[in-house]
Amino acid sequence: MTTGESVIRRMYMYGLDRAKVVGSENVFDYSLGNPSVAPPSAYTDALVDLVQNENPLLVHGYSPNVGMPQAREAIVKDLNKRYHMGYTLKNIFMSVSAAGALAHAFRAVVTPGEGQNIITFAPFFPEYIHYVGGSGAELKVVPADFSSFQINFEAFESMIDEKTVAVLINSPNNPSGIVYSTQTIERLANILRAKSAELGHVIYLISDEPYREIVFEGTDAPFVAKFYDNTIVCYSYSKSMSVPGARTGYCLINTEAEGYEDFVAVCVQISRCIGHNCPPTLMQLAVARDAGATSDLAVYETNMNILYDELTSLGFEMVKPGGTFYMLPKALEADATAFCEKAKQFDLILVPGDSFGAPGYFRIAYCVPTEKVRRSLMAFRKLAALYKH
Ligand code: PLP
Repeated sequence: MTTGESVIRRMYMYGLDRAKVVGSENVFDYSLGNPSVAPPSAYTDALVDLVQNENPLLVHGYSPNVGMPQAREAIVKDLNKRYHMGYTLKNIFMSVSAAGALAHAFRAVVTPGEGQNIITFAPFFPEYIHYVGGSGAELKVVPADFSSFQINFEAFESMIDEKTVAVLINSPNNPSGIVYSTQTIERLANILRAKSAELGHVIYLISDEPYREIVFEGTDAPFVAKFYDNTIVCYSYSKSMSVPGARTGYCLINTEAEGYEDFVAVCVQISRCIGHNCPPTLMQLAVARDAGATSDLAVYETNMNILYDELTSLGFEMVKPGGTFYMLPKALEADATAFCEKAKQFDLILVPGDSFGAPGYFRIAYCVPTEKVRRSLMAFRKLAALYKH
């Protein structure tokens, strides 16, 4: 049983309470990663058509445990077109979004009771602690490289041990917005190959990719699975299609990975044990109509540029995001929680970076309307002014 409160949710709830007092239009709520753009019309049109014109026993019935064949076929076809990986239905298992995909991937590689660990890199999505904990492994977090938010390789290499069964990455990254470069992924893959050989067992690379489609102009965004055979991709439509409530995603294993032949069958057994089974049929069928469709994601880059320009001119230090709808500037005092508390007086809802493994930093989730981003700049100016002596 876990009772740890999410600081993200706490700030979000505060924002809702505040909105009742001053009106939601006056609260600059940058707490939650809830998409702010409409789903693609291909998706909503498909939903309407499926509900009105298809067999209700199909669209409202149980999905097979592995997922709807229409969705699996459409997704591998789209992925093969984009990444030329030669995926087939044997590579893919449909899941309840990224959270469900990760729950399966962790359990597929961990043997409970063996004291195994999975390594991830700060800054990181704090729910990983709970997701990994539930699999029976321990999550070990490599401290951040604050200069770039790429991987701190020296610290990483010293943390791999004989109990390491997987490395978990998230690029484009929540909370920093950073995208791991080709150079970073190549170096990571080289280390994993060398360490797997040295330790005599495979170290899997689990790549959590809900933000894969949200990449900004000029950013080098490699497809991770191309670089390391023993990769399991965990994907979600929550952010790319703006449908977090639809709970749709998948696990995708490379054909060259150890355990590939059994992977989908193993996931089916896992889903029976953890109750994350039979993802919503209707939502899978809607994805199947156009698996490559995305929302109009350009607004996130617009918002990022507005905030980046203003905040850096106010003296905030940050690494410029290459994707997602998050940024992670350095707070103007050492205690980011105190900083975020001060921000509240201007109805700016920010999240301290401590739980992301980035003390002294704060996260801005800029998935809000652009006009609101512009209006929030005055609040940031007032906040920065508190620190001018
Ligand atoms: N992984 C990361 C990095 C996330 O930011 C989130 C949600 O914000 C998730 C996983 C879980 O998302 P979902 O289960 O909606 O796909």
